[in-house]
Amino acid sequence: MFNIFKKKPSNIKYDKENIPNFKYHKDPLNTGAFIENKDGKKCSCCNMISKYIYLEPYYSKKRISCLCPDCISNGEAHRKFNMEFQDFESCETVSDKSIIEEVCYRTPGYCSWQQENWLSCCDDLCEFIGCLSWDKIKELKIEKEIIEAIIKNETFIAIGRPIEELIDAINDEIHDLCVFQCLHCKKYKVDINLS
Ligand SMILES: [Zn+2]
Ligand SMILES: [Zn+2]
Repeated sequence: MFNIFKKKPSNIKYDKENIPNFKYHKDPLNTGAFIENKDGKKCSCCNMISKYIYLEPYYSKKRISCLCPDCISNGEAHRKFNMEFQDFESCETVSDKSIIEEVCYRTPGYCSWQQENWLSCCDDLCEFIGCLSWDKIKELKIEKEIIEAIIKNETFIAIGRPIEELIDAINDEIHDLCVFQCLHCKKYKVDINLS
């Protein structure tokens, strides 16, 4: 007798399983920044096999196949490949430049339809929560806060359409709604990317 539903145990032996803490991108598994290393790929930087890997985005002249979370967190990948995970010019202004360096050099980035902006509030960069569907926003029970943030958003004001249309466009994946939260006043901020 055999059980076809029995999951085949993975034979990959990982050198590393844990994800270090990223102040500005706290849940990189949920946002999709790190994916499970199902093929047992080696990190392009340290050559070790970690349970979760990072593929993109990154800015570097070198082609990198994948990175482990540690080599992003400790700045080794940035030093070795002169790479950035977020465009310096696409971070909102903060007075302390080392904050922008932490996000660009030592924090996993995120992918969107257009240029990925990293938003700021209270003179600090915000935590990236994710590019979220409206269902996910409802699940998190933050609709009210997100609607408040959308109303203040320059892109939304420029489009000049009712908010219901924007929500439909997010559901239809025509627009991307990238959500950030201030680490200090806890307000949500959004970046609306048109496809
Ligand atoms: Zn590594
Ligand atoms: Zn704030």
